[in-house]
Amino acid sequence: MDLTYDRTNVYQQADDARIQAIMAYAEGYKRYLDSAKTEREAVSATVKMLEKAGYKPYVLGDKIHRGDKLYLNNRGKSLYILRAGKADVEKNGVRILVAHVDSPRLDLKQVPLYEKAGIAYLKTHYYGGIKKYHWLTIPLALHGVVVLKSGQKIEIAIGEDASDPVFYITDLLPHLSQELNKSTIGEGFSAENLNLVVGGIPVKGEEKDAVKRGVLQLLNSRYGIVEEDFLSAELEAVPAAKAHDVGFDRAYIASYGHDDRVCAYPEITATIDADTDQTVLTILADKEEIGSVGNTGMQCILIRDLLDEIAKSYGVSPSVLRQRSMCLSADVTAGFDPAYASAFEEMNASRVHCGVAMSKFTGSRGKSGSNDASAEYVGYLRRVFAEAGVIWQTGELGRVDLGGGGTVALFIANNNIDTVDLGVPVLSMHSPNELVSKADVYSAYEAFKAFVK
Ligand code: MN
Ligand code: MN
Repeated sequence: MDLTYDRTNVYQQADDARIQAIMAYAEGYKRYLDSAKTEREAVSATVKMLEKAGYKPYVLGDKIHRGDKLYLNNRGKSLYILRAGKADVEKNGVRILVAHVDSPRLDLKQVPLYEKAGIAYLKTHYYGGIKKYHWLTIPLALHGVVVLKSGQKIEIAIGEDASDPVFYITDLLPHLSQELNKSTIGEGFSAENLNLVVGGIPVKGEEKDAVKRGVLQLLNSRYGIVEEDFLSAELEAVPAAKAHDVGFDRAYIASYGHDDRVCAYPEITATIDADTDQTVLTILADKEEIGSVGNTGMQCILIRDLLDEIAKSYGVSPSVLRQRSMCLSADVTAGFDPAYASAFEEMNASRVHCGVAMSKFTGSRGKSGSNDASAEYVGYLRRVFAEAGVIWQTGELGRVDLGGGGTVALFIANNNIDTVDLGVPVLSMHSPNELVSKADVYSAYEAFKAFVK
């Protein structure tokens, strides 16, 4: 009997067939990443996968029958996937998987377009936690919707095709950076300087704002947009890059938006693939990066409404159903990075390649703002994963009192549902090009499948 705890490296333990399975699974995940740069696109891409697998749209109030495979598309920004099982929900509750599909990015302001020194710009307001300097001088794409006064919705995605133009934020040359270099990273880069270069050819014969007018003419001829239409637009600047394999051995994937598609994709595929009689509710949430607020965030009462509909349809008590339900709040955690070792506490930090990481608690300054899962629930999951042969690890976000972070876990748990955080370790989290191990992505898929069984 081994008396000590050690992490297991998935690649080290895997035979050739298993490594092939890990690599093959990663191909599907990369395609998902490239087709789902925003929360709206993630919902659309997922709906396509679900419809292919026989899932049907659901609206609140419809009766749910055992065996139904349904999805509720919440305003195009969050998605509730329901597999109504044959098992007794009064005894087993509902198995709930939650991930989020919003990622840090630069949103356009509502009056964004201006011109200065012959350059047309769009002003942005960043969304979520970013390091501002990451977004300078990289190719950026623009995704989102513009709702015209008529109510017509124009969908926009510019910068992803090889033939598309991209957008760009400038930086100061090193030759003139002596003063900038003395400032802190926090002070040196101003949010009001995160302005996208979007045009440079003036309209002939115009004296004022000739470049801005040129951009408006283009937008008007292509999309029928006038400047006022930005007031009712949601346009997001995201990195204009595809997911890439990293390393000679292709052990990793670098991409924008692993946080939290790297948990969303395994949840979706596990939900579709699992051979189970349980009732499974899989949620792709929006607004996690800004506090899970609003009617598409995880604080919205919709989860409760949906659980009530299940209880009503099955003729059981909603409060008993909730109490018997269990949840994996699937969100990424920080993998140990040897280049920044002092930011971590090595014994408790998760390691890349060692499987999906369970964070019993998150939060900051003494677990504040955290869902601290019970020892009983963690013990139960240890048995589930051991029986299914899932390689997983424990992981704490970083050194105590250095910072911290929260997830949606507490908002699920508030409904009297046992919940714990379980997600893929990420390096360079919240950067425009995050890094994960393919082995950990596959481990997440296996863990979610075991959980819903
Ligand atoms: Mn996250
Ligand atoms: Mn995040």
